[in-house]
Amino acid sequence: MFSTFEGRTVVITGGSKGIGLGIARVFTSAGANVMIAGRSQVSLDAAAQSLGNAPVATQVTDVTSEESCRELAAATVEAFGGIDALCTNAGIFPSARLENLDRAALDEVIGTNFYGTAFCVAACLDHLAASALGRVVVTSSITGPITGYPGWAHYGASKAAQLGYVRTAAMELAPRGVTINAVLPGNIMTEGLADLGQEYLDGMAAAIPQKRLGAVEDIGYAALYFASPQAGYVTGQTLVVDGGQVLPEDPGALEEM
Ligand code: NAP
Repeated sequence: MFSTFEGRTVVITGGSKGIGLGIARVFTSAGANVMIAGRSQVSLDAAAQSLGNAPVATQVTDVTSEESCRELAAATVEAFGGIDALCTNAGIFPSARLENLDRAALDEVIGTNFYGTAFCVAACLDHLAASALGRVVVTSSITGPITGYPGWAHYGASKAAQLGYVRTAAMELAPRGVTINAVLPGNIMTEGLADLGQEYLDGMAAAIPQKRLGAVEDIGYAALYFASPQAGYVTGQTLVVDGGQVLPEDPGALEEM
């Protein structure tokens, strides 16, 4: 369906594990050069090794730092000669109840999830505009834009903020030939979730019409679509990838299935 990504360069923040590594796997399978970014060189090396012989570069990056995001863009251009697509995926989701949402807790989550998105777009913008492709794909979430979950008010706010950003960014980027869209994952199976145990995972799966958690590649394929030449007329949009999780009106609807 899609053209090959052979010779195209994709930057993936948070590419060292979880959904970001799944996105990297999908893009390398499609032939792309991939730059994966995260805070730990050890994790990045392990991720790069898991991607086999694909053209992969790594860069230790803290997306809360504008300087670090600029260094990521420069390192990508040095490694591969340009940037065709950017997947802003790095994110954190520590739980905190409302009474504990002090400045430090808010700064940490909004700084990573929202500022990190804006800083990476700003750092890569001129390179994306110079590309014949020019794509930004944001990993948001159903939590915040669509659903709520106790302990994640700050996380939900950061994920909704990404979407507010995307809608205006799409307008500013359009004259430069760059699109920006967001994928909203539901509950996706990552290394972190595996530690919670089978009983917990079964409970999560039971609340999803498809009765399973998503795979990281499910998000990767959605990102691949938004980054493809075929999606060139799609911008400022969102795609929920959740096995139908947000659909039931109430728990009884799941029992009626
Ligand atoms: P994960 O497994 O914990 O991976 C997070 C990635 O982000 C890691 O590579 C991590 O590497 C990196 N990272 C964290 N803080 C960073 C920073 N300041 N600078 C650079 N890299 C940073 O998480 P995940 O579940 O794959 O989540 C990825 C994205 O999907 C997040 O935006 C999350 O909100 C979203 N999401 C996930 C789910 C889900 O079910 N998993 C659902 C909805 C949305 P280091 O720690 O080594 O820096």
